[in-house]
Amino acid sequence: MNSDLDKKYLWHPFTPTDLWLDPAHEPVVIVEGEGSWLMDANGRRYLDGNSSIWTNLHGHRHPALNHAIKTQLDRIAHSSFLGLTNEPAPQLAEKLLQAAAGEKTPHLHRCFLSDDGSTAVEAALKIAHQYFQQNGEEQRTRFISLGSAYHGDTVGAMSVGHSPLFHKTYRQMLFSSDEVMSPHCYRCPFNQARPEKQDARLVRKCHWECLAQVEKKFQEHQDRSAAWVIEPRVQGAAGFIMHPEGYLQETSALARQHGALVILDEVMTGFGRTGPLFAFQKEEVQPDLVALAKGLTGGYLPLAATLLTEKLFLGFRGHPSRTFYHGHSYTGNQLGCAAALASLDLLQSEPVRQNRLRLENVLRHSHEKFWQLPHTGDVRQEGCILAIELVEDFASRRPFDPARCTGAEVCRQAAALGLLTRPVGDVLVLMPPYSTTETEALLMIERLHQAIQNTF
Ligand SMILES: *Cc1c(COP(=O)(O)O)cnc(C)c1O
Repeated sequence: MNSDLDKKYLWHPFTPTDLWLDPAHEPVVIVEGEGSWLMDANGRRYLDGNSSIWTNLHGHRHPALNHAIKTQLDRIAHSSFLGLTNEPAPQLAEKLLQAAAGEKTPHLHRCFLSDDGSTAVEAALKIAHQYFQQNGEEQRTRFISLGSAYHGDTVGAMSVGHSPLFHKTYRQMLFSSDEVMSPHCYRCPFNQARPEKQDARLVRKCHWECLAQVEKKFQEHQDRSAAWVIEPRVQGAAGFIMHPEGYLQETSALARQHGALVILDEVMTGFGRTGPLFAFQKEEVQPDLVALAKGLTGGYLPLAATLLTEKLFLGFRGHPSRTFYHGHSYTGNQLGCAAALASLDLLQSEPVRQNRLRLENVLRHSHEKFWQLPHTGDVRQEGCILAIELVEDFASRRPFDPARCTGAEVCRQAAALGLLTRPVGDVLVLMPPYSTTETEALLMIERLHQAIQNTF
């Protein structure tokens, strides 16, 4: 049995060991996928409610993506990008930069390829650091990022992360960075509004204390800030914290005023998840570096990109000692680039755009249904991302005892009903592939709703 072999030899990411090895735990063995559905070895069908951890855009086994990869495979799978180039990588860079450019952001002009979200962020941090080191601002070494931030698992990406659960153990091996409060209106100590059955961002009563903290941090640093690092508009792994309108723009402007770069981590928010192709396109922001991964290949292959301005790139010209000594064996992988090109084509096509809008609407119409459940504390949505935060007590926003693992229990119930998704603590998420039909989306909503009821 595959699950026996798995338990004997494998080690899973972000998975408590004893729970996985518990003899009562029968792992789901995925053997096939089609559209928004996953099939397991027992022939059971599940809806892929979180797009296979936020990666899949167009559904599984999409003919256009399959075709693009097979065609590329018949030419070559991979050759080195060190000192050589290839066909699909430059085409992808052009297409990505055009998609990210727009009128408001004409300056993103270069693309550094890597393998996954962590490495895309890692490259962005090192580019920012090295740029200042070799361009006369050696003192700019401080990175500022948000409370609960998650930017990946490599050491640099962890260093700008501030998740107590994920990062505490490693503190001594990380470089020091600065944390400012996350603008999480639902749990903000400065928000004077009482809970209402409405998105907490819209009914908040505050004086933007969160912004004042960012400003204070930049002032403290004087000219030592290297960059403001942020997931634009939605912090995914931090608990699908959705920021109030304007926060991104205001904080990016503050960074600029203080001579710091703006590094956006769009690993989760990119490729249409929040509405526009990239979340920063919702506000007037001019990023210097943008990290992309998860959805880049439509969820098919590991590939990542760090987009940057020509100004930064020019800071690496000149003597060979100014080289960016950084990269990976699989940089520019042809199969990944071919998949990404096909995925971008689909994403920018009218039918997919229409379906995304339809999906967004179906999710929006489900709010009322979730608000009616007694343990719903907050329901929030950005584009095609719906998050439901469960609490023990609505009036006081008191969370459940984390030891109860309420969110995980709901997702176990959902799996039993044929819906796969993963919680972040007690925050439940629906983030379907864009190919999801209205009927399938309604089924996801129904199953999640039922799973919550079954849990209580
Ligand atoms: C998933 C994620 C990462 C890390 O990406 P990997 O591909 O898992 O290394 C970084 N930043 C954000 C915002 C993410 O959601």
